Amino acid sequence: MDFAESERVRTIRSIAREFVQKELVPLEPALRRRRFVELLPELRRVRDRAKETGLWAAHLPAEWGGAGLGLVEFAHLSEELGRTPIGHYAFNVQAPDVGNMEILLEHGTDAQKERFLRPLVRGDIRSCFTMTEPEFPGSNPTWMGTTAVRDGDAWVIRGHKWFASSVDGAAFAICMAVTDPDAESPYQRASMILVPTDAPGFEHVANLSVMGDRGSDYASHAEVSYHGCRVPLENLLGAEGAGFAIAQDRLGAGRVHHCMRWIGICERALDLLCRHAATRQLSPGRPLGTRQIVQQWIAESRAEIHGARLMVLHAAWKIAAQGTYAAREEISLIKFTVARTMQRVLDRAIQTLGALGMTDDTPLAWWWAHERGARIYDGPDEVHVSVVAKRILRGYGMDAR
Ligand SMILES: Cc1cc2nc3c(=O)[nH]c(=O)nc-3n(C[C@H](O)[C@H](O)[C@H](O)COP(=O)(O)OP(=O)(O)OC[C@H]3O[C@@H](n4cnc5c(N)ncnc54)[C@H](O)[C@@H]3O)c2cc1C
Repeated sequence: MDFAESERVRTIRSIAREFVQKELVPLEPALRRRRFVELLPELRRVRDRAKETGLWAAHLPAEWGGAGLGLVEFAHLSEELGRTPIGHYAFNVQAPDVGNMEILLEHGTDAQKERFLRPLVRGDIRSCFTMTEPEFPGSNPTWMGTTAVRDGDAWVIRGHKWFASSVDGAAFAICMAVTDPDAESPYQRASMILVPTDAPGFEHVANLSVMGDRGSDYASHAEVSYHGCRVPLENLLGAEGAGFAIAQDRLGAGRVHHCMRWIGICERALDLLCRHAATRQLSPGRPLGTRQIVQQWIAESRAEIHGARLMVLHAAWKIAAQGTYAAREEISLIKFTVARTMQRVLDRAIQTLGALGMTDDTPLAWWWAHERGARIYDGPDEVHVSVVAKRILRGYGMDAR
């Protein structure tokens, strides 16, 4: 196995790191003081400059305006952008748009690509993904209440969703809905349907208050109702009954994107921790970093981040080489390992900074609140732990279902 970074990866990392430092870190205090929606004019200008770097929507092929990065290359970029809360948004590679772009590219018809994908890639519109429902367990995505029924030339969608990120201001949603409740396999009951948010019967009920923040625009999570919402039959995305399979396929690469973003967060947190440890004097001439407990936090964080990065890059390599299905154990391993690593590293950094770590003078407190969800979304820790353990036990002749 070759651990060397290619010339291209080194260039991507260096362009992204410089952009984050020069253009995005200076915007962070405003992001913490003001609502996201109030920053849109500044963010638009930053996005225009991001386009000039050649890394805009970098996961997409060049003919779609991207940089044609492979998954491993994109993973490196994701780490660099993860060092600031607005890195991915600045380059139009933020969830859920990044996954929605990938689904549209892979499964959309030519007409769907023109109508939904092209403006999304340009950054002219945003999108959202509505799957989770308050009344059903999101951890079992084969069981949901939302239905889509054919009526003449339209789908009629009825259902109740929540925790859909970035609905506020989105131009369209991808809706997961049951289209064949009688399909023998529970994995073939649901389909994905493209729903413009101005379609009759689509209601953005409200942004949810999450960790004390109702959010706005892209930085929000919302409740949505489909009240007999009508969209043309041609808005079916991919094959009928393929919703679960498409979602699983999308989540493979999506988890790599998230995990490398979290590693970027870890690196920034460790940097803040070390700077403070090296400069904060406990008594004259005795900086905090002279304490063994702080040294232990530094060394353990470095070891955990290093291990986590290698795991994610390996998973990305395996997905790219053998496909999502072959890499499902690696995908589950990274999902719960890196989410927990991030939580530990953030906690150590906040503890080292003391009261300063609780303020909004650094991004640590923001991440502490906004990234707690990492252990829940895209599959809670416990589901992924269970996937891995069951597969291992199967090797011992045990059916652990
Ligand atoms: C910040 C954030 C953003 C999100 N964005 C989106 C989005 O854009 N679109 C969308 O559709 N959804 C989104 N979600 C929802 C997310 O996908 C669900 O929260 C997730 O799938 C878990 O579903 P649930 O909340 O219904 O928990 P449940 O399924 O009710 O599970 C509750 C808890 O039970 C435990 N548990 C569940 N299954 C098992 C098991 N097999 N073994 C042991 N323990 C188990 C876990 O501890 C779990 O946390 C988001 C969530 C968060 C927090």
